Amino acid sequence: MATDPTPRRSARPEEDRKLAATWRDAKVVSVDHHGELGVILRLDVPDRVVHRPGQHYVLRLRAEDGYTASRSYSAVSAPSDDLVELYVEKVPDGEVSGFLAEVVEPGDVLECRGPIGRWFAWDGRSPALGIGGGSGVAPLVSMLRHARDVGHPELLHLAVSAWTAEHLPYREELEASGALIAYSRQKGGSRLDAAVIAAVADPGATAFVCGSARFTLAMESHLLSAGQPESSIRIERFGPTGEGDGDG
Ligand SMILES: Cc1cc2nc3c(=O)[nH]c(=O)nc-3n(C[C@H](O)[C@H](O)[C@H](O)COP(=O)(O)OP(=O)(O)OC[C@H]3O[C@@H](n4cnc5c(N)ncnc54)[C@H](O)[C@@H]3O)c2cc1C
Repeated sequence: MATDPTPRRSARPEEDRKLAATWRDAKVVSVDHHGELGVILRLDVPDRVVHRPGQHYVLRLRAEDGYTASRSYSAVSAPSDDLVELYVEKVPDGEVSGFLAEVVEPGDVLECRGPIGRWFAWDGRSPALGIGGGSGVAPLVSMLRHARDVGHPELLHLAVSAWTAEHLPYREELEASGALIAYSRQKGGSRLDAAVIAAVADPGATAFVCGSARFTLAMESHLLSAGQPESSIRIERFGPTGEGDGDG
């Protein structure tokens, strides 16, 4: 079946922009734990604005005394999904990720706004290279699901990295897609080093790089060395600058 590869264009872009910027109460439909640190949350977002693969939502937690904390989480779901799926990895002493990974249950309500981000968003119709480390695979899985949905898997190539197979979210889905996968702390493992990135770099594609500051810096440097034009590289950093493991 021929399908338009562009996520549904809104007939009311101005209203959608306003709605995306408005805090709404999303209902948690399901909570699936992944390993010791990860959790997959599926949310029913009222008046959902269809996202472009790569975009993110902001979740806001509110304490009884009025204190609030907001953090960003990439949409993992395809634009066609009725629910918004997020993958949250608990970071040590993390204020928000710890709550989302350990306390949230189906039926809970979470304040959210989104989708957000015009830069780190795939148009779904041009060649793309996704490079992700650890939880940084989240927006790339949305791209993968969308590419599959519209029958154009050939537009997207993925190279992802995690410490071990147990640490890679969506491992089966990524394996089935033919993604290049490197496990940096596994016996006989490998890294997304300069040679690997040189082999996947594609000057004709937009490169979406996502993960910790250290990971994204290394990948950007490998891509530039491989001749990937700087203007074609888009980066999403999950952690604080200078921290985070190379693949985490
Ligand atoms: C656009 C965007 C999209 C994001 N998408 C996702 C996503 O899909 N899944 C996901 O799990 N996270 C994602 N993040 C990261 C997320 O927003 C939070 O930063 C993360 O969950 C930590 O928040 P926290 O409140 O638990 O930690 P905090 O209380 O803010 O920090 C606790 C400690 O952990 C350190 N820290 C904070 N973040 C990280 C990190 N990512 N890695 C290592 N150490 C860290 C801090 O420096 C501090 O020492 C995204 C970030 C951005 C900017």
